Amino acid sequence: AKYVYLFTKGQADGDRSQRELLGGKGANLAEMAAIGLPVPSGFTLTTEVCKSFYQHDRHYPEGVESQVNNALKKLEQEMAKGFGDPVNPLLLSVRSGAPTSMPGMMDTVLNLGLNDQTVQGLINLSGSPRFAYDSYRRFIQMYANVVKGVDGDIFETLLEDKKRAKGIENDNELSAEDLQQLITEFKDSYRQVLNLDFPTDPQQQLWEAISAVFGSWMNQRAVTYRSLNNIPSHWGTAVNVQAMVFGNMGNDCATGVAFTRDPSTGENYFYGEFLVNAQGEDVVAGIRTPQPINKAKYKPGDLPALEDVLPGCYAQLLDHRNTLEKHFRDMQDIEFTIESGKLYMLQTRTGKRTAQAAIRIAVEMVGEKLISKKEAVLRVLPEQLEQLLHPSIDPSVVKNIIAKGLPASPGACSGKVVFNADEAEQQNKLKEKVILVRIETSPEDIHGMNAAQGILTSRGGMTSHAAVVARGMGKSCVAGCGDLHIDYEKQVMVTKSGHTIKRGDIITLDGAAGEVILGDVAKVQPAVSGDFGTLMSWADTFRTLNVRANADTPHDAKIAREFGAEGIGLCRTEHMFFDVKRIQAVREMIVSADLQGRERALSKIMPMQKSDFIGLFREMRGVPVTIRLLDPPLHEFLPQNNDDIADLAALAGMRFSEVKEHVEELHEFNPMLGHRGCRLGLTYPEVYDMQVRAIMEAACELVKNEHYKIVPEIMIPLVADVNELKVLREKAIQVAEQVMATYGVKVDYQIGTMIELPRAALLADLIAEQADFFSFGTNDLTQTTYGLSRDDAGRFLPYYIENGLFLSDPFIKLDRAGVGQLVKMGTEKGRQTRPGLKVGICGEHGGEPSSVEFCHQIGLDYVSCSPYRVPIARLAAAHAAL
Ligand code: ADP
Ligand code: MG
Ligand code: MG
Repeated sequence: AKYVYLFTKGQADGDRSQRELLGGKGANLAEMAAIGLPVPSGFTLTTEVCKSFYQHDRHYPEGVESQVNNALKKLEQEMAKGFGDPVNPLLLSVRSGAPTSMPGMMDTVLNLGLNDQTVQGLINLSGSPRFAYDSYRRFIQMYANVVKGVDGDIFETLLEDKKRAKGIENDNELSAEDLQQLITEFKDSYRQVLNLDFPTDPQQQLWEAISAVFGSWMNQRAVTYRSLNNIPSHWGTAVNVQAMVFGNMGNDCATGVAFTRDPSTGENYFYGEFLVNAQGEDVVAGIRTPQPINKAKYKPGDLPALEDVLPGCYAQLLDHRNTLEKHFRDMQDIEFTIESGKLYMLQTRTGKRTAQAAIRIAVEMVGEKLISKKEAVLRVLPEQLEQLLHPSIDPSVVKNIIAKGLPASPGACSGKVVFNADEAEQQNKLKEKVILVRIETSPEDIHGMNAAQGILTSRGGMTSHAAVVARGMGKSCVAGCGDLHIDYEKQVMVTKSGHTIKRGDIITLDGAAGEVILGDVAKVQPAVSGDFGTLMSWADTFRTLNVRANADTPHDAKIAREFGAEGIGLCRTEHMFFDVKRIQAVREMIVSADLQGRERALSKIMPMQKSDFIGLFREMRGVPVTIRLLDPPLHEFLPQNNDDIADLAALAGMRFSEVKEHVEELHEFNPMLGHRGCRLGLTYPEVYDMQVRAIMEAACELVKNEHYKIVPEIMIPLVADVNELKVLREKAIQVAEQVMATYGVKVDYQIGTMIELPRAALLADLIAEQADFFSFGTNDLTQTTYGLSRDDAGRFLPYYIENGLFLSDPFIKLDRAGVGQLVKMGTEKGRQTRPGLKVGICGEHGGEPSSVEFCHQIGLDYVSCSPYRVPIARLAAAHAAL
């Protein structure tokens, strides 16, 4: 088998389609090399080697060693250097590269091949002892850390001590002698910690490094990252072995990272940062303040741009940027190094971006004829929109800005300040909102970043770890906020403006403006406009599934329409009863001894219900509004304490003891499976009569006075048997016809049912004979199919998910196998007896992309979800259709 793939300028064994085999980095290095970009030559060990490595107790399959040796020989010829040659040494980098990008999660070793002899060769080749020793000390550091797991702090401390002793600030000010001493100190530490000498044999170095990079696939942070991002662990990583180029050889050398477009806003300008005389992760790790690559967004105080420092290299880089964008037809995240004025490309990958940027880039690339509208729609993930549907800071409020940093990831959030990741996680478990404040973040902080509302750092640029990870997670982030002095020990941060913020104090971040604001601040709701609106309108042309909203008030209905809802799929009328004034009337109705008393109480509620429906119908004129008749268990309406009972007795003209007795009588052991839904409608028929009258009067008035087209759909909940529906339907028709006759107008109303009990799904053919439409209430249907109480599942469901018994929470993601089967069967059976039956779902699942996809596949007419999820459902429906 072929385990090793070569790449060199103008020619490569692999290409970009082989991500699974070569990893993302290896596949793209091959592609860049093949299209003639200046990539240092090297070779890739495939993910197959990794899989075999783990299957065989960390041993390599037959043939890997000889293939690596052959590849290495070719590399030596190509570079005209020898690996381990003391006069003319070839140095290597050993780089990880998974099929999908896992930034900073796995390990890389640079400058491999150095020892006390080859370092002399490097001095001769470069003429710079300082450079050669700097490379050597970095190599020891990385090797110890990556290959042998030695805590990096040991070396950082030695480095800091040396700088302090010399009275200097930056690494690049250390002299050759300083570095030589550091190398001795590093080797001593290595020996002390590991009881081993630092390996001098380049072959040993190479193989140990390769094994370590394969091994890093299973390190804790990689495992965490994969589980957060649903990346399967069986994929494995590839390993890239590549000739080194040096960004740390002097002042005509540099290393940098860039995005072909702004990853935060999506604006089409070339965004990047670099450091002169530096290597590897220096830029991302924030060891010095990076310099901008160009002056497009120059601000006073910015350091000199690459455009001015090394104009020839900048021009080439700009050229490569254009080549890469045209070739990959997407925004790229690139890494480059400049050695003695010569530019090398070290990596390119699809750049991570905020939702806002994803949309802008997709829409603009259609404008530039790089991609089609279909591709644009597919480029934005429905889940991502969630970020845009979050609030931003109300522009009209006065805000107390205490510090400014980089606008690293947009969105506004407020929370309590915490200074470490573990605490962020603990507080989050206690349902506290927190902002994670760090000097800089590292891969060890991922769990805390995930738990926090937003992230604030005092160091690092737009490409720092914090910024990149926050954008990927869709969290608000202000990075590199130099106005802050953070003291982990005292658990405080002090701003330049003189504010002291302690752990637990509340701050607000505006990630789009880079602002840190004191206290909590009012936020405003988002809108679907501009590029977002354009993309959504394209999505609408591809989808066939309709999207409605679950909305109970005119206010929610208005939001839903603005987000593109094509009707209301579920109006829960009980929410209209919970208002303090109204609930009194409902209570009065429940405890009334006779029909007369009940009707008297209901007549108080009727005008209120009617005006609710008028508001709702006005917002939704022309489109259907599904109104569910009263559903919840009676006890939810009952008075809870003696004071309430006394009030109610007075109101109803009854005795205290009489009311109390009645309330006790109504107690239920299992109210969710008790006296609710249509069972209530059957035993207290006045309630549904009143509701149907309110709906029909509202509709008739609007049709008559305002000439709107109104499409009421009256929905009867919790039906298990066709007879329940038959009786209630007949009664509803009676009331409706009577109201229409009184008003002298005709309204196109329908009467349908919710399918939320397994028995209803099983007998859907019979039920459909009495129903104009079905709406699957998948919240209750999930609950009743699993026999799993939604309100109590929190005690044990997390265990199921953590232990892999359930792959996901069935209340979030529709269970296709079980509940989904009932939905599919119910739809098919319903349409057998009533062809063309209109069918939708109205559970929380209606706004969850994978559930939306399922609804599309089984041929539903619509999904209905909360107003803020309407755009997500629209896009998910388009993806499902494409
Ligand atoms: P990651 O997957 O974390 O991005 P990389 O394999 O890209 O890790 O390596 C990190 C950095 O090391 C690169 O950004 C680059 O600066 C440096 N590097 C990697 N390979 C080479 C090389 N052949 N020559 C010079 N620098 C390199
Ligand atoms: Mg990289
Ligand atoms: Mg229900």
